Amino acid sequence: MKARVVIIGAGITGALTAWRLARAGYAVTVLEARHVGAGSSSRTAAGIRQQFSTPETVLGMRYSVDFFRRFTQEVGGSDSPLVQSGYLFLLGDDAAVDAAAGRVRLQRSCGLDEVELLDARAAAGRFPWLDPDAIAGATWCPSDGFLRPELVYNEAIDAARRLGAELLQGAEVQEARHRGGRLVAVRAGDRWIGADVVVDATNAWSPRLARLLGGVELPILPLKRYLWFLDRGAQVSAELLASLPLIIAPGGAYCRPENAHSLLLGYAHDTPAEPDFRHEDQDRIDPQAFHRGAEDGLAVQAWLAMAEVVPALADLAGFRATTSGFYGTTPDHNPFLGYDPQVDNLVRLVGFSGHGAMFGPFSSAVGLALIEGGADLADLPVLDRAVSLLPFRLDRQFQHGEAMVI
Ligand SMILES: Cc1cc2nc3c(=O)[nH]c(=O)nc-3n(C[C@H](O)[C@H](O)[C@H](O)COP(=O)(O)OP(=O)(O)OC[C@H]3O[C@@H](n4cnc5c(N)ncnc54)[C@H](O)[C@@H]3O)c2cc1C
Repeated sequence: MKARVVIIGAGITGALTAWRLARAGYAVTVLEARHVGAGSSSRTAAGIRQQFSTPETVLGMRYSVDFFRRFTQEVGGSDSPLVQSGYLFLLGDDAAVDAAAGRVRLQRSCGLDEVELLDARAAAGRFPWLDPDAIAGATWCPSDGFLRPELVYNEAIDAARRLGAELLQGAEVQEARHRGGRLVAVRAGDRWIGADVVVDATNAWSPRLARLLGGVELPILPLKRYLWFLDRGAQVSAELLASLPLIIAPGGAYCRPENAHSLLLGYAHDTPAEPDFRHEDQDRIDPQAFHRGAEDGLAVQAWLAMAEVVPALADLAGFRATTSGFYGTTPDHNPFLGYDPQVDNLVRLVGFSGHGAMFGPFSSAVGLALIEGGADLADLPVLDRAVSLLPFRLDRQFQHGEAMVI
């Protein structure tokens, strides 16, 4: 038997990492404070795209899309978690179109051949529900889309358990023992669990977990994010709703179909960080964000922004629900994937900003490679390329931020 690995956190990151490590023969224990999927992984819009601005993330997300295509064969389950309905980034002015042209060149140089830059007329020709006068252009990638996140973490945890992994829920890690700069055990409740390697997969909770594990307190800001669900009603056809890809409006509002009767809507609004949020705060809906709140509240702002570019959405019947969770946002919007500089056997897979669901296959592959290859691992071979891990190092200077942020 290989080393004993304790994974802390059972969201998409922890579950996929558990499956990979159990399959590779490690003795895996997953410790989850509440229940599988209790964090952001069950509160996510779960968009998956390869349209990023840095080569490493374009390549990493090409790998993730490819992995999710094969998910049922690789991991298990009968239904694919991947819906490849495409991602349409709408561009508000000529400067945005120029910047997008550079990104599309970069994305194609990373093998994303299917991504396209469209002018406003071409975009409206392709997608007749768009108002061409409200945009200057768009980028479109048909192999992007969204995930059914519950299929990802539930199937991955089940597969890990079939391979011998132990899952403890209601098991919040509260204390740690060290020897010679290494973690030797962590305590959840009254149980101490011995470990050769510990993986931090707690994302927005990571800074406070690091304090008790003796790790570096990484700059990860928990930021509240909301999703709203709108009823289709009789004025908008089921065919129109079903035909919509994931659409991003110029100001940061976005939407996608949730099911035949409902549209999921989100918004990249400004909000103060909540470093000490409690688990319950994930469900707290502030009055300015509640769908039955003020007429100029965030939900209505996001709906209006989407209806400006897709006028038919103004005819939706109205709001049904609000849900919420936390981003774990980093200064450059890239995650931290690497060994902790203060604790030799602590691997951190955290700080996913708005893209941790789609990062899951890539970050868990990095986690396994780090445990197999050690702290000097410089890159990860994925598909036809080697992806440098430099942009994800814990000690980076945040000079090359990710520009495609929602
Ligand atoms: C509204 C919203 C929209 C989003 N949209 C997208 C999107 O379109 N695409 C995308 O890719 N991502 C999106 N994200 C981000 C994505 O959901 C997250 O980055 C991702 O789910 C993080 O997964 P994780 O497994 O790393 O962390 P989480 O799912 O948050 O899991 C961390 C787990 O750690 C547990 N934990 C914490 N502390 C401890 C402890 N001391 N002991 C034991 N367990 C502990 C928690 O209970 C939790 O279950 C969105 C997020 C939100 C909130």
